[in-house]
Amino acid sequence: MVCGNLYLSFKVPVMVAKIEKEREVAESTAVTGLVCDPIYREHQPGVRHPESPERYDAAIKGIEEHVPAGRILKIVPRMAKEDDLALCHTLEYIDEARQDILSGWGSLSTGDTDVCVKSYDVALKAVGGLLNAVDAVIEKKVRNVFCAVRPPGHHATSERGMGFCIFNNVAIAARYVQKKYGVGRVAIVDWDIHHGNGTQDIFYEDPSVLYFSTHMWPFYPGTGSSSERGGGTARGTKINCPLGAGSGRKEYVDAFNEKLVPAVKNFKPEFIFISAGFDGMANDPIGRHLMTAADYADLTGIVMEIASKYASGRIVSALEGGYNLSDLAASVGAHAAILAK
Ligand SMILES: [Zn+2]
Repeated sequence: MVCGNLYLSFKVPVMVAKIEKEREVAESTAVTGLVCDPIYREHQPGVRHPESPERYDAAIKGIEEHVPAGRILKIVPRMAKEDDLALCHTLEYIDEARQDILSGWGSLSTGDTDVCVKSYDVALKAVGGLLNAVDAVIEKKVRNVFCAVRPPGHHATSERGMGFCIFNNVAIAARYVQKKYGVGRVAIVDWDIHHGNGTQDIFYEDPSVLYFSTHMWPFYPGTGSSSERGGGTARGTKINCPLGAGSGRKEYVDAFNEKLVPAVKNFKPEFIFISAGFDGMANDPIGRHLMTAADYADLTGIVMEIASKYASGRIVSALEGGYNLSDLAASVGAHAAILAK
């Protein structure tokens, strides 16, 4: 026994040192992926357009300033294929968008989305960025991912680009995680100040996708009344929280706690996407809400709690709106800092 104890007394410090070392490694391991690529600057909707290439720089700057580099793993986007787009979009619309863009026309014929000739490739990389983000989370390379992509996506329906959006990045990625990895129930949390009419429309009759949106009302694009709840067997899986102009932290946090939290208790999502628009910030030139960077950090915390309870922490968050550049940097930074905690 004495010999045994002596043996242990030599071994224990070695074991403690080993555990400490492992902990150090774990703490320095990246937990959050960042989809980034300078190509996202090359979609140029025109001079003085609010959805500007500088938004990409602002998002990256915010993350560099607020998240320790060791917590972030950079993820290079791939080019989405037509089959990927077709998970949510009609072949007719994909052709139409390609032709509109490559013809040099300058905007989509389907409405209010200005483009340049490079926009098609950039849009494919935006979708492909989310697909690589999904792969990285499923393969456990990271716990979650923020995608600093442009153009945004949540207004694009299956057959129509609109509202600065060409393809619906988040919707395509949601279908992709279901189809490629057999994930059943997916939740999409959309806190952009605009209602994600495209995402809601794509999944309106699909009970496997819970769509939750907080948005200003009345406002563009005009959809998102609380009576829109999903169709057929999907009734109840679309949850809209229209909030009047001047709404801020209290209204958003109440909506998350009173509507989203009870809904996921029943739905039990296995994977979560965030349509992360930051145009609810108080100084946004388009929105009229009063959110702060700290408020978006708190919403992130609520979604992370839900994700850790039901979805093994799996979140892919993608940039949607947010048009005041310094506010965008601050709010993306605050959001990513919580994701990477
Ligand atoms: Zn928006």
